[in-house]
Amino acid sequence: MSGHLEGILASGIPTGVLTGENVRKLIAYAKKHGFAIPAFNCTTSSTINAVLEAARDNKAPVIIQFSQGGSAYFAGKGLANGKQEASILGAVSGAKYVREVAKAYGIPVLLHSDHCAKKLLPWFDGMLQADEEYFKVHGEALFSSHMLDLSEEPKHENIEICVGYLQRMAKLGILLEMEIGITGGEEDGVNNEDVDNAALYTQPQDIWDIYEAFTKVTDLFTIAAAFGNVHGVYKPGNVKLHPQLLGKHQEFVAQKLGLAAGSKPVNFVFHGGSGSTDAEIKEAVSHGVIKMNIDTDTQWAYWEGIKNFYESKKGYLQGQIGNPDGEDKPNKKYYDPRVWIREGEKTMSKRVGQALKELGSAGTL
Ligand SMILES: [Zn+2]
Repeated sequence: MSGHLEGILASGIPTGVLTGENVRKLIAYAKKHGFAIPAFNCTTSSTINAVLEAARDNKAPVIIQFSQGGSAYFAGKGLANGKQEASILGAVSGAKYVREVAKAYGIPVLLHSDHCAKKLLPWFDGMLQADEEYFKVHGEALFSSHMLDLSEEPKHENIEICVGYLQRMAKLGILLEMEIGITGGEEDGVNNEDVDNAALYTQPQDIWDIYEAFTKVTDLFTIAAAFGNVHGVYKPGNVKLHPQLLGKHQEFVAQKLGLAAGSKPVNFVFHGGSGSTDAEIKEAVSHGVIKMNIDTDTQWAYWEGIKNFYESKKGYLQGQIGNPDGEDKPNKKYYDPRVWIREGEKTMSKRVGQALKELGSAGTL
């Protein structure tokens, strides 16, 4: 693969980490071509590389995101995190790592931070401060976007806090992803397994209230609405996925704005999509989903490669010396982390490629 380093693709979208106007361009490009960009949770340079490699090989833009827990892990589990200091440090150092290597893969990358509940706002504030510092030096923010998840708070408070941050972020060209309604399941310490069923489906009026308040500040925002989606792997039960609700939201907002029928003014994000069918994903994308989070499935994929490697090479992985070929034979080429971790990277990359195809983004560059 040649033509790496910084460049501009035929679509006019640059390669490397995008911010501001280039994020707008990429979203417009995705909507025009009817695809969504998957966002993969990364926790190490290894998982980041696996994602970038798959995106390059599939000629697709990609989103790399860090959760609060994943960020702390990136900096090291041995660090204290009582004031979110490890999560801030991990997110910032992970972001700087992605910024350096993304250029070499020759694809557009959005750098994002995942769910931030109200109690984790110090993490958000720390990242935003790093964005402002980066902006002073480089004329753009460190991250492309951040997510605030205040879906547990009353709607008016959710909107109010988001708008406050949006004002600060708009100056830096950072997109805000927000969440409304309850997505079932568990993620980073928020457990929504027992919530009322009605709260699992966001109402059109909620979407309009957000849209109206946010567009007074900027158009750089996305909405993760609840349409029966569930975080983590779940057994299908009384929660049913209704992607068509997103179409109803688009209609409602388009009508309020006096736009033509079929226009999709809202940019939606699909959370908790593990276990969704290909048809459900395609329907969600057809209703204006431009980002879908993927974590659980790539976690399994990474482990699967390591598991398979261990099982097939078990006799070579029981000691430094001695294997089925002889008592004095060395096993270094099996237990070297570069060998078995690479197996996890390969199976994760394959799963990333599958998601890029399912969301229609493969081959779009
Ligand atoms: Zn969510």
